[in-house]
Amino acid sequence: MRPLPRSFTPYGWAMSTAEAARIAGLAPHEVLRFDGNTPPAPPAYARAETIADALAEIQRYPHGGFPSLLDAIAEYAGVEPERIVLGAGADDLLLLCGRAFAGPGDVVRVLDEPTYPVFRLAAWLAGADVGDEGAVVTYCCRPHNPTGVLGPLPEDRPLVVDEAYFEYAGETAAGTPGVIAVRTFSKAFGLAAARVGYAVADADVAPELVVRQDPLPITTLSAALALAALRAGPPDVSENLAERERLMARLRRLGHEPLESHTNFLYVPMEDAHRMYERLLKLGLVVRVFDGAIRITVHAPQANDRLLDALEQAHG
Ligand code: PMP
Repeated sequence: MRPLPRSFTPYGWAMSTAEAARIAGLAPHEVLRFDGNTPPAPPAYARAETIADALAEIQRYPHGGFPSLLDAIAEYAGVEPERIVLGAGADDLLLLCGRAFAGPGDVVRVLDEPTYPVFRLAAWLAGADVGDEGAVVTYCCRPHNPTGVLGPLPEDRPLVVDEAYFEYAGETAAGTPGVIAVRTFSKAFGLAAARVGYAVADADVAPELVVRQDPLPITTLSAALALAALRAGPPDVSENLAERERLMARLRRLGHEPLESHTNFLYVPMEDAHRMYERLLKLGLVVRVFDGAIRITVHAPQANDRLLDALEQAHG
C-alpha cells in the first residue's frame, strides 16, 4: 500500500450508543445524543411504503442511475440537472472533490480550522498536503461546523463549500461560478442513515466529477427516500430553530455564552469542557467536546430540558 502522510489522522467516530449506555448504566434508548447534528425524530416520509417499489426490483441494477432524483434535486437547488452530482452523503462528495482536484505534491487549503475533519481526509487520501500557499482547491464549511457561524463566502476558486447545514442558515453559494456546493439529506431532511448527498457544480465541472466516482454511488432504497423527501416539499426547520432560541436563552441564563448559530447546533465555550463532557456522559447525555467548548445538537424540548437540568446541576 501507499503510505499515508505522516500527519494523517483517521476519522474519529464518537462512541456507540451501546457504549455510552454502558458508561451511564442506562438502557441504550435512554441515552440522548447531542453530538450528531441530526433532527430529533425521523421524518414522516421515512416509512416502509417509501421503499416498497425499490424492494420489488431489488435484484436489478438501477440502469442509467437516478434521473428522476437528479431532476428533483436540480429543481430544489434551482439549477439544471447536468450540474448535480449524487453521492453517498456529503462525505463521499468531499472525498471525490479531493481526488478530482488534487494529487501527490499538490496543496489543498482548508479554511477556518478546526472544522469538519473530512476536508483534511480528502486532501490526504488524494496524496496531497494541507497548506495555504499555491493551493489547487480550497475547502470551507458554511455555515461553519463546529461554531455555527455564517461567514462571508471566501474568494478562493475552485472552492468546495460544505453546505450540510444551509437549510438552517437560509443562504447558499450553489450556482456561484467556481464553487462546488456540497449538500446532504442527512441534516434538515432527516435521512442521515440513508447516505445521500449531492454537489452543485459548474456545468463543465459536474461531469468531470461524475466520471471520477463510483458508477452507482447510492442505493435504490436511498434514492427512493431522498425523492420522497423532496416531494414532501422543502424541509420545515422552523420548529427546530425556535427550540434552538429557547435553548440559547436558557443557556445564557445559566451564565453560558453560546455563539450565535446558523445551524441546528450550539457551540458553547466552556473552560472545563472535557470535564463537563465526562460528567454529562455519565448521565447518558452525549455532547461533542472540543478544547474549550462543547457543541450541542438542538434536540426535542424534553431532551433539551434533560441536558439543561444537568448543566444547571453542574453549576450548582
Ligand atoms: N459536512 C459537515 C459539516 C457535517 O457536519 C457532516 C455530518 N456531521 C457532514 C458533512 C456529513 O454529511 P453526510 O452525512 O451527508 O455524509
